[in-house]
Amino acid sequence: MKKILIANWKMCDKSALDALHFLKDLPNPQKKDVRIAAPFTLIREMAGNSLKIRIGGQNMHSFSEGAFTGEISARMLREAGADFVILGHSERRHLLGETNEFIQGKVERAVVEGLSFVLCVGETLEEKELEETFDVIENQLDSAFDGVLEDQLESCGALIAYEPVWAIGSGKSAEISEIMKVHEFIKKKYDLPVLYGGSVNLENFQKLLGSRSIDGVLVGGASLGAATFGQMIQLLPEG
Ligand code: PEP
Repeated sequence: MKKILIANWKMCDKSALDALHFLKDLPNPQKKDVRIAAPFTLIREMAGNSLKIRIGGQNMHSFSEGAFTGEISARMLREAGADFVILGHSERRHLLGETNEFIQGKVERAVVEGLSFVLCVGETLEEKELEETFDVIENQLDSAFDGVLEDQLESCGALIAYEPVWAIGSGKSAEISEIMKVHEFIKKKYDLPVLYGGSVNLENFQKLLGSRSIDGVLVGGASLGAATFGQMIQLLPEG
């Protein structure tokens, strides 16, 4: 299986021109699976780029349309050129109050629309210290996938990202041995690719991707500069 590299640009302050310059400065990923989850305003500009880097959104609503001010639907994302979406990122769970139930609705919508998605799961520091990691992750996964068949998940290209909340943006990645335990636990439950996210940088990139149970990485802060992200593309194993 090809290893997967996904940038999460969050609410980065890039103009459309900045995004185009960023793409121009990257090496050609050739056949590697490289994606960027961009802010909504950049999707149309970046989609269909000549490097064939897949462009996605960072969130969407569970309904296909309606009176949901400020929200965006799967079809709107797709119409703008996105071909995947991040769902259940911890910043949305913990800062914006997204519940497991709401995230389940989004997963169902993505499946109905055939939109590939990355479901993020992960424990907080407090949950880790209380040794609740596996319970939290099991609950997040089982709730999100409730009512959805595994075949449907596979056919829409679902991915799971294990992102310990305490590792995101902290400069402190989880230990490979810890990550492997969680990934193996997830893989026993769901036969889907599992990515790791949380302070991935150029120093830990190859070590992480060298692990058999890590199918790819989701990179926040370190994905914002073309020089670093370009090096990650070059270091990404071919298959
Ligand atoms: C993320 O936000 O998904 C993430 C992994 O961020 P960072 O790489 O900055 O920790």
